[in-house]
Order: sequence, then C-alpha cells, then structure tokens
Amino acid sequence: MPSEPVEEYDAIVIGAGVSGMYALHHLREMGLAVRVYDGATDVGGTWWYNRYPGARVDGPGSPFYCYAFSDELMKEWDWAETQSEQSAVLDYLEHVADRFDLRRDIQFETWVEDARYDEAEQRWTVETSTGVRASARFLICAVGALSTANMPEIPGIHDFAGECYHTGRWPHEPVSFEGKRVAVIGTGSSGIQSIPEIAKQAAHLTVLQRTPQFAFPAGNRPITPAEMAEARANWDALREKMYAHGSGFPFDPYPARSAFDDTPEERRAHYEALWQRGGFGFFLDLYSDIAISEEANATLADFVREKIREAVHDPETARKLMPDHFVITKRPILHDGYFETFNRDNVALVDLREDPIECFTKTSVITASGEHPIDMLVLATGFDAISGTMLRLDPKGRGGVPLHERWADRFHNYLGMTVSGFPNLFMIHGPGSPGVFYNMPLGAERQLNWIGDFMHVLSERGFGAVEPTPDAEDAWFDEVVGIANATLFPRTDSWWTGANIEGKPRYFSAYLGGSIYYQRIADVAGQDYPGFRFEPLQASGDAKAS
Ligand code: NAP
Repeated sequence: MPSEPVEEYDAIVIGAGVSGMYALHHLREMGLAVRVYDGATDVGGTWWYNRYPGARVDGPGSPFYCYAFSDELMKEWDWAETQSEQSAVLDYLEHVADRFDLRRDIQFETWVEDARYDEAEQRWTVETSTGVRASARFLICAVGALSTANMPEIPGIHDFAGECYHTGRWPHEPVSFEGKRVAVIGTGSSGIQSIPEIAKQAAHLTVLQRTPQFAFPAGNRPITPAEMAEARANWDALREKMYAHGSGFPFDPYPARSAFDDTPEERRAHYEALWQRGGFGFFLDLYSDIAISEEANATLADFVREKIREAVHDPETARKLMPDHFVITKRPILHDGYFETFNRDNVALVDLREDPIECFTKTSVITASGEHPIDMLVLATGFDAISGTMLRLDPKGRGGVPLHERWADRFHNYLGMTVSGFPNLFMIHGPGSPGVFYNMPLGAERQLNWIGDFMHVLSERGFGAVEPTPDAEDAWFDEVVGIANATLFPRTDSWWTGANIEGKPRYFSAYLGGSIYYQRIADVAGQDYPGFRFEPLQASGDAKAS
C-alpha cells in the first residue's frame, strides 16, 4: 500500500490539553503553520479524561486556574465555584477552543505513534494512528504531566469480570454505583475526591489503602458575582501578582515566619484558622519552615492527625488512617468529607500494609485476611507522572537514539524544556520544570512564550537546529536536585520522586523554585542562550522552512 504523503508544518504539537491549546494559539499568532494531534475526541487533555465522580480543581482554584494571555477571555468567563468541577473546566476549555478557532488545526482521535528527527533535513517526522504522516522543524510535546495511567499489576486483576475503571480514563457514559459492591484502590487526590461520592451511592464500598494521607478541607464555595466583578476590575494587578508569586496564583508573598516564632498556642490557633478557612491557601500561608524542618513539619502533622482522630468515630479505623510521612511532602490533597465517609455503615477500610492484596478472582479481591466480594473495581492508582508520557512517546533523536535510552539513568534536560540529542524538541511541564508546582495554565503560557521567542531568534539568525549541551543539562540537574534536597520533599515516596513506578529513576525531578524558574529562563534568553548549541540551516532543510 502506498504510504500517505508527508504533510509539512512549521511546528507539530502533541496534545490538545491546556498546554497544547495555548501552543497552537501562540505559535499561530506568530505566523507559523501548526498542526496539533490528540487521541481524544475534543480539547481538554486531563480535563477531558478525568471525569470520575467528585473530580474538581483541587488547587488554589477559580477564577485564577485559567489562561492569562487574553484580557477579553478573563473578562467574559464566569466561574461558579472556587474549586470548579471537572465539567466547568472543560466548558471553559471548549469555549477557548471556539473563541480562538483552535479546532481547525487540531486532528483529534489521532495518536502520534512515532516521532523521529532527521538530521539532514533538521526536521521531525511523526507517524500517526490514522496513517497521516507529518513533518515540521519544531516538535512541541504538550503531552501532560499526569496523563499516562498507572495500571497496577496485581495477580488475577485481568480475570476480574466486573466493571473496572481507572479514574484517569473514566468513561463518558454515566457509571452507576447503585446497589453495587465497589472497591477503590488508591487514596491520592483522585481516590480522596471520588470515595465520598461513590460511598453515597454504592451498596458497599471497600477502600484499599496502601499509604494513609494527610488531607485538608477543600473549602469549596460559590464565587459571588461581586467577587467575579472585582477580579475583572483588578485583572491587571491580579495578573501581575500571579506572575510574581511562587505558585502562579495571586497570593501575597509566602510568610517568612518560622513555626517556632509562635508559641504552641499561637501556632495551633494559626493552623485552626487556616483549617476553618479551607482551600489551597492553607499551604501558601503556612510557616516558612514546614517543608524544611522536621520539627516544624511535625507541628502541622500532629495537628492534622488530631483532626483525623476527631472526624473518624471508630478508633481502629482512625488508627489505620493516620499518615506517618512528612506532611505536604506527598501532593497535598483537598477533601470534602473524606474522613467522615469512614463513619458510614456501608464503608470499610483495608490497610494494605497490614492486610495486603493477594489476588483478584472473577468476583472478588482477596487480601491476607480474607475475601471481599465486589461488582466493581475503581483504580485511583495515579500516573506515571512528569516523564511517563514522554517515555511512552519515546521520540528518536540524533542517530535514531530513543528517549528511553537517553533517560535510562535520569531525565536529562536543560531548563525543563529541551534535551541534548533531540534538537528542536520542546517539552511543556516536563521534568526539570516547575510543572505541577505552579499554576499549570499560566506555567504553560510562560514556557511557550519563551519557546516562541527562541524560535523567532533561530529563524532570524538562520539556524536550523538547536539543542542543549550535556554540560548545561548536568548543571541544570544539579540546580533542580540542589533546591529539592534543601527540603523534606525527596525524603518521602511519591509520584514526585518516581517512587510509584517500579524501575523509574528515583529523584525529585520538578524545579521547586516557583517563579525563580521563570526568571532563570528569562535570564538565559537575556544572555543570548548560554548552554545551547546552534546549527546553521542546511540547504535541504531550507527548502521546507517557512
Ligand atoms: P496518586 O496521588 O499517585 O495516588 C495513587 C494512589 O494509588 C496512592 O494512594 C497509591 O499508594 C495508590 N496505589 C498505586 N498503586 C497501587 C498498588 N499497586 N496497590 C495499592 N495502592 C496503589 O494519583 P492520583 O490520586 O490520581 O493523583 C495524582 C495527581 O493528579 C495528584 O497528586 C494531583 O496533582 C493531580 N490531581 C489533580 C486533581 C485536581 O486538581 N482536580 C484531581 C486529581 C488528581 P501510595 O501512596 O502508597 O503510592
């Protein structure tokens, strides 16, 4: 069969989620020919896939979990709640797609199955699941930091004959729990958001918990019209605040006070006030040493453990729910009635540390203590995060070397966006960037604005290819790890450290410096891009360049 002709673009973007949508808009505004591929049927990425019951923004939230590039967009969109539901975020993203006419350059239901760099042409060629082949000078990987589902390999799990859903691959058709015996594996953000909702409907719910978690009140509430009006009226100043704050949200600067600047009574009162207020602001108004000092961390951990004890009636269940890692060193979780759910008669908690899963049968899960008959299994088991989807794509760089070989020991990168041996490839929210530690729509915008400027410089100066030097990557690794190692974060097993995936390089791969990162990349541009190696445009590549 003759192969499809190769479509030619300036840039190919993989992924039509929050980052890919802005990539398309921004690069198209620059006058580039751009094509986006996405496996889903519409825009939204993570918000298209994660439709499990209870799914909502569990960050600092609306109205500032949004794009900041368009004043009109900010001013015309109404957010109903501080922690918007998944469907509300998806409505917003669909509106963005309509407003900026994005869909005409996106090919949906199309997986990029192979991406290869051609050194002579200085271009990337992709092969897709629909047979379409395309080539472009630049490859933008907007593949998502939390998009490759972690499917646990437990003996017999494939024999289980009941319904089985991963939270990150939730069906689009309604799922009914009525009258069913349901088991949930996993008590991260997805599990803790969905468990109270499932418990309200299911005949019986068994929660299979490996690691107990610290969770904080979501404090979700309606956003009043007056608050929306105020946000719009002050948008310029709020956007400046978003740019300045380490989280990318418009908060006042992080407090500079140590937990031990207060007396135990003052400290408790401070925690109590934050607890009553709820929401992600809890973590932004904490003491400055909570994530640095074991002793400071213990003061908050003790406070939360006390709250769990108060919420859960049965002391034995409360004991099993008691987390023992440093608080906030796994992704902080906001909950709405999670701990209280264990007071329901139809909910049972299995502590897998004491009572591990032995296997699944067609109709049950068997743990060391016995058999739990179930009709449905919900896998809230998370993702091969940050690097996993890049590795699933596994682009082939210079000499046909696949990314998985380059990343065998660690996720070599420079500025969290580029990889040596993979010229003209840019990652959004990849390893080495703040990614999930920052307001992700704003972070994507800031990275893509930087990338757009860089592309412009390359074409102005007649370069055909650019990639970082291995030395620059090593120095960046030292910087990323150096910042993380000054905190307690790397000392806890989490998806941030890769500990949830067997065989994955174990280290804290996100840039923890918040807005310092954006200053760092701006400085690199201002100093004319130290750490990069440039290659003149080849004659053969010239013919296809725009
Ligand atoms: P997660 O935080 O990685 O939690 C996965 C859970 O599954 C953990 O409790 C883990 O236990 C457990 N688990 C994994 N494999 C297991 C196995 N083989 N046996 C038993 N237990 C197993 O994943 P997530 O809850 O999907 O959340 C991932 C991230 O997505 C969040 O941290 C957050 O950044 C983001 N998220 C955001 C939102 C939002 O903003 N609306 C909502 C959901 C998720 P261990 O802890 O022992 O590994």
